[in-house]
Formats: sequence, structure tokens, C-alpha cells
Amino acid sequence: MKHFKIILILFFGLSIHLPSFTQGHRDKIGIVIHGGAGTILKSNMTPELEKEYSEKLAEALHEGYGILKNSGTSIEAVEATLRIMEDSPLFNAGKGAVFTHEGTNELDASIMDGRTLNAGAVAAVKHIKNPITLAKIVMEKSWHVMLAGDGAEKFAQEQGIPLVPSDYFYTERRWKQLQQLIDKDSRHDDSLKLEKKKNPPNDTIKEHGTVGCVAIDKFGNIAAGTSTGGMTNKRFGRIGDSPIIGAGNYANNKTCGVSGTGDGEYFIRLNVAKDISDLMEYRNMSVKEAAETVINKLTKLGGTGGVIALDINGNIAMPFNTSGMYRGYIDGNGKPIVMIYKE
Ligand code: ASP
Repeated sequence: MKHFKIILILFFGLSIHLPSFTQGHRDKIGIVIHGGAGTILKSNMTPELEKEYSEKLAEALHEGYGILKNSGTSIEAVEATLRIMEDSPLFNAGKGAVFTHEGTNELDASIMDGRTLNAGAVAAVKHIKNPITLAKIVMEKSWHVMLAGDGAEKFAQEQGIPLVPSDYFYTERRWKQLQQLIDKDSRHDDSLKLEKKKNPPNDTIKEHGTVGCVAIDKFGNIAAGTSTGGMTNKRFGRIGDSPIIGAGNYANNKTCGVSGTGDGEYFIRLNVAKDISDLMEYRNMSVKEAAETVINKLTKLGGTGGVIALDINGNIAMPFNTSGMYRGYIDGNGKPIVMIYKE
């Protein structure tokens, strides 16, 4: 991907209008992605790692954009883009998924079609290499929206999706993160855990890493997808916002597509993705205003994270309240623009 000119812009709350996309003109395409929000500081990053992230984000964008350019649908573009991110150990999804308390990996994903409001999701799957693909199959081949655990994997096999052994998901980096967190948590008691709901731990220990993509195709249809390993050290079958339609993912051609990353519990409680769409639909807000309004609500409630959102006219918003969020889009000249830090 070296032939791409990758531009690192150090901005917060950026809202961009893709120059070649004019209102009412539905033959233009757009794509925006994130690779998770969290404590992402330049001081903690090596130039090599920064390059790896930037190149992978650009590669994913290029893949999705190529599909859109060749008259593919936004659903196809979202799936293909997220598969690249799931296959990379850099992100907390697919191959780079975080570990549960028990040392397993439980993955969540969802996809939504803004044209039909059809949606598919999988939760807590342990042997699916690309959960976004299974979510798409749930959407297209079943009348259900969300399948979980063993049942979802049984459905996958019936649909010809092979299961991968659980050690496929092992990465040393994520294993070490689990050990660190177990060690840290063992020094706290349960009352502190309840306390988290009121005073969530500050984001010095947070690195979300979920992946998301929103695209609009030449037919004017928006799709959004999100995929994650969830939270490191999660227990008791915990499921986050990513597979919950309206919380971590939403798409509606009338308004926008949204994918979120952050403290899933807060995204569920606020219905973040649907709230952004609703503010546009019922309050006539722009995508930028709506996304920023909801991220402000998230901040007030004590949650951390961010969203990417893309409206039907190609306007993009990428607000977040953490120190960084891996993110990017394709600009009006077909170039990938990749960003990591707030400032
Ligand atoms: N939102 C995800 C979850 O809570 C985590 C993340 O964004 O990394 O499961």
C-alpha cells in the first residue's frame, strides 16, 4: 500500500464534506472507517507501529472504495473493508480480538442496510474468523436479526462457513493485556466494580480497538458495519454495543449510517447510533451536529468512545472523547486520508 499517499491529520471532531458529492446527485460514493477509540497517544506510539496502522487503514479503505467504484453495493464494501481489519492483529476484532476473563475470545458484529433497514448480528461467537460475514449472512439468509453463541456457529456451519480453532485468535499482545487487567482487578473488590457504573475508570487504561465502516454506494444506499472482540477481561457472557442495532451500529438512507467504538455499556444505554439518526430525522440536525450532540451525552454520562457517521449527501463526522481514534475516509480525489490522534 506504499503507493498511497497517507496523510496524518491531527484533528478532533472533524466533519468533512466530500467535495465531489453534491446533494441530490446519487452517482457518487463515500466510505469512512474506524479502528477503535481510546488512549492512543503519540508518545506511546513508535513510528513503525504508526505506519502499520496507517497502512492497514489505507488498505481497508482502498478495498471498500474499489468495490464502490466498480458499482458494488455499500453492503459489499462494508463487509470487504471490515474483513481486512478483522484479519489484522492490529485491531480488536477477528484475529486481534481481546481475551475474556477465562482466556477465550468472544466476538460480536453487526451490519445494517440503510435502504431496507434490514440488519444482521452475531454475538459471543468463538470460532468465526470473520464475524462481519456471518452477520451479513444472518441478515440475508435468515429472518432473524441476532444470533448468539453456539447457535450462531451452528447456523454458520449450515451456511458453509467453516469454524476456526480458538487458538487462531491468540496474539501475545492481547494475552498480556488480559494478564495486566486481571492483576489490576484482583486488587479491587466488587463494590468498586459497581462503582464503575457511576465513575467509570478513566481512559488511561482504555484501548477499544473495535472496527467499523460506513459506506454509500452509487445507488445512494448507505450501509454500516461494526465488529469487535469486546472488552478485555469481560465475564459472564457480557455482550457490548457492537452487535446491538441502534447502539453501536445503525444505517438509514433517510438520515445516515453510524458505527461506534467505546464503552459498550454506555453506548447501549444511550442508544448512540440510533440517537444520531433520530436527531437528524426529528430535529433536522446535520450529521456533524447530531454526532457531536450524542458524543457530548456520552461524555456527560461518563462513557468514553467515538463514532463515525456518514449522511446521504456524503458528509462525514468523526467525533470522539478519547485521546485518539484510528479513523479514515476517502477524499474527493479518491485518496485515503488516515488519522489517529486528537491533536
Ligand atoms: N464497543 C465495544 C464493546 O463495548 C468495545 C470497543 O469499542 O472496542 O464491546
